[in-house]
Amino acid sequence: MNSLVRLAALLLATCTLHAAQADPAFRVGAGKRVITPVEAMWMAGYASRTAPSDGKIHDLHAKALVIEDAAGLQGVILTTDLIGIPKNIAVATATLIHDTYQIPRERVMITASHTHCGPVMRDNLYGMYALDPEQVNRIEAYTGAMPQMLLDAVTAAMDNLEPATLTWGIGNAGFAVNRREYTPGGVTNGENPIGPVDHDVPVLAARRADGSLKAVLFGYACHNTTLSFQQFCGDYAGFAQYGLEEAFPGATALFATGCGADANPLPRRTLELAQQYGAQLGKAVESVLGGTMAPLNGPLKASFEEIPLELSAPPTREQIEEQLKSEDVYIQRRAKTLLKTLDTRGALDTTYPYPVQIWQFGDALQMTVLGGEVVVDYALLLKHRLGREKQFVIAYANDVCAYIPSLRVLREGGYEGDTSMIYYGFYGPWAPTIQDAILGSALKQTEALKE
Ligand SMILES: [Zn+2]
Repeated sequence: MNSLVRLAALLLATCTLHAAQADPAFRVGAGKRVITPVEAMWMAGYASRTAPSDGKIHDLHAKALVIEDAAGLQGVILTTDLIGIPKNIAVATATLIHDTYQIPRERVMITASHTHCGPVMRDNLYGMYALDPEQVNRIEAYTGAMPQMLLDAVTAAMDNLEPATLTWGIGNAGFAVNRREYTPGGVTNGENPIGPVDHDVPVLAARRADGSLKAVLFGYACHNTTLSFQQFCGDYAGFAQYGLEEAFPGATALFATGCGADANPLPRRTLELAQQYGAQLGKAVESVLGGTMAPLNGPLKASFEEIPLELSAPPTREQIEEQLKSEDVYIQRRAKTLLKTLDTRGALDTTYPYPVQIWQFGDALQMTVLGGEVVVDYALLLKHRLGREKQFVIAYANDVCAYIPSLRVLREGGYEGDTSMIYYGFYGPWAPTIQDAILGSALKQTEALKE
């Protein structure tokens, strides 16, 4: 009898222990690394700048969130206060992470806040800037060091992996305004109060066993472009991250941009407005954290593919030579690059390998992760098809190669549908197959992961 009681007590203790250990279903690590350039550099995103950076408002960061499920499978989410990570840097970073931590490509997500107050990245919008050789050297050196800087953030996160619970919820912030203004002359970059927007603020929280906040990943579908001045700054997303880290000491706040390619924070252009939007976004995240959030369980499943996204029919050599005579310096610059490609490779690429990535946390949450500057229609279509309550849609990820218009925006034209392709170096707009190709890949991978 005595031994039976002891056995029962032992079983009870073991069960309690298991329950306590099973409760935090994951191990989570969060790390960051300052990536503010040490020298003055040309700043990304606006063609109109005539001088390099002059100091900083605050530091720019690369941050890493490492999530390990109960089976020991890890995933890495990288966020950056940068305009975008071009494909070659994403590939080099993913390779470095794989070589160091044996984490496969589909489990590495590389995102950007799209601040226009960070440095130019190599091969990203190169056609937009008039760069002298010294500035090109600085961009090459900075961009070349980026994979190691991103790995540093991952290593910092690996160093503090600990048991954690993950929860998920959606808040709301209203400052994103559709910017595709319909005018008699066509669509211009202005303000469209009847245009679609996505005001969701997706929030993924990691809490330690003692309940304290370890990390929070949040998003918003809006250009991170309140500011256009000459100082390094994370813009509203930077202020939101700084504000949350102040409100939750010991926590790392990470921001990833949603499908905000056709939305701007309006009005804009003052530091006060950037701070105000950052505070508004931070409050939206805090109110989600203070409410009831959906618990996440494993396993963490991931998939990634590059699909051949079709471009419209390519121009002839004669047509490109004609563009050399254009009065538009950007069309001239692009024509020179296209002719160089024709000379060296004999033909222009008519497709582009476009990344689509999916992460699933059981039935509760799917992260649908798209490359490029994606317009809001994709977020709305994905939420319609897959359920808003379980969709964390991230854009500007794994390769910021171009604007990604929906079929509607492609047909309407304007900057996101057409003319932005000049700055990204493509010979013309995407083919009308674009929307079906991207959604098709996302839906196919979604189903495949469920099996
Ligand atoms: Zn943009």
